[in-house]
Amino acid sequence: MGEKIDCKVLAMDDVLTDSLQRPLRDLRISVTDRCNFRCGYCMPKDIFGKGYPFLKQSSLLSCDQVARLVRIFAGLGVHKIRLTGGEPLLRQDLEELVRKIAEIPGIDDIALTTNASLLSRERALSLNQAGIRRLNISLDALTPEIYARINQIPVPLEDILSGVAHALEAPYQAVKINMVVQKGVNDKDILPMVEYFRGSQAVLRFIEFMDVGNHNQWNPEQVFASQDIVSLINRVYPIRPASANYPGEVARRWRYEDGQGEIGVISSVTQPFCGDCARARLSARGELFTCLFATAGFDLKKLLEADASDTEITSQLRDIWGRRTDRYSMERLSRTRSDPSGHRGRKVEMSYIGG
Ligand code: SAM
Ligand code: SF4
Ligand code: SF4
Repeated sequence: MGEKIDCKVLAMDDVLTDSLQRPLRDLRISVTDRCNFRCGYCMPKDIFGKGYPFLKQSSLLSCDQVARLVRIFAGLGVHKIRLTGGEPLLRQDLEELVRKIAEIPGIDDIALTTNASLLSRERALSLNQAGIRRLNISLDALTPEIYARINQIPVPLEDILSGVAHALEAPYQAVKINMVVQKGVNDKDILPMVEYFRGSQAVLRFIEFMDVGNHNQWNPEQVFASQDIVSLINRVYPIRPASANYPGEVARRWRYEDGQGEIGVISSVTQPFCGDCARARLSARGELFTCLFATAGFDLKKLLEADASDTEITSQLRDIWGRRTDRYSMERLSRTRSDPSGHRGRKVEMSYIGG
C-alpha cells in the first residue's frame, strides 16, 4: 500500500492551488467506463455499440489502487469523493471500494451518481452501510416514452422510481435527482418532475445540456437555460433563492415558498463556475484529468505499476495541479456562434472520465 502520507489538515500556506488559485478539494472517480444505458447525450448507441473498445476488466484500477491514490489525494487537501462512471453499480466490488475509501483519514464525504436501474433495496442499504453518504440519481423524464427515447434501453421507468424509493428508505444524508434538460426532448417533463418530487425528501436538480465528449451532437439551441427553468417553475410553484450550503456549491438553490422543499439548477453552460472548480477526475484505468472537457490526462497507473513511492506520486500531483489552467466552460461562453462547441481537439468521453 506504500508509505503513509500525513493527512492532517493542511496549514493555509501549504494549501495546493492551481495557476488560477483554485484549491484541490474534490475527486471524481470513474469506477467503470461501461454502462447499461445508452443516453444520447453521453453514450450514443451508434458510437458505443457492439465492438466499442471498452476497457478490459484487467485494465481497471483495483480497489487497493484506487484507495492508495485517494489516500495520496487526501494528503493534498481532497476531502470529498464522488464515485461515478459509466454506471458504477455495474462494478461488483463497489461496496468494498467504498469501505476502503471511507477508512481514509481526511475523507469526510463519499457520494455516488447512478442511473438507479440496479439500485435494489439491498444495494441501497449495503452502499450506505459501506460509507456512501449522498446519492445522486439521474432521471430525465417521467413520461415512459421520453425516458426510453433518452436512455435507448428498454428499462421500465418503474424500476428507476423503485430505486429512488429504496434510496429514500435507506438512511442517506441526501438524495438528489438529476434531470438533464434538452429543449424539445424532455422539457415538457419539467413540471411533472417538479410535481412528483415536491414535498418528498429528494431534491430535484436541473442540469444544462453540455457538449461533453465528441459524439452527442451538442448544439447551443438545445440548451434549456436554468434561468428559463426557474421562470417556468416559478409561474406555477413560486420559489425564492436560497443561500448555498457551502462556498463553491455548483447548484444554485431555490426554495418553494409554500415550504415543500427545494430545487437546484446547475448552469454549466449559461453561468459557468470554473472560477470555483476544485475538482479533479480519475478515470477507471487510472488517468488524472483536471477538467471534464480535457483532451489528455496524466497516467497515474503507470506510476503505480512502476512502484513509485507516495512521495513521488504526491510530487507529480502537486506539479500537475500547480500548472492547471482549465476554464473550458468560461471559454465556451465567450466563443463565437461559428464555433459554438469550442472544440480544441478530441475530448475525453464523459463515461470514461466520470460525469
Ligand atoms: N451512469 C451514472 C448516471 O447516469 O447517473 C453516472 C455517470 S453519468 C456520466 C453522470 C451524470 O452526468 C448524469 O447525471 C448524467 O445525466 C450527466 N450527463 C451525462 N452527459 C451529460 C451532458 N451531455 N450534459 C449534462 N449532463 C450530462
Ligand atoms: Fe450511462 Fe450515465 Fe452516461 Fe446515461 S449518463 S449513458 S446512464 S453513464
Ligand atoms: Fe471545472 Fe472544467 Fe467544468 Fe470549468 S469546465 S467547471 S474547469 S470541469
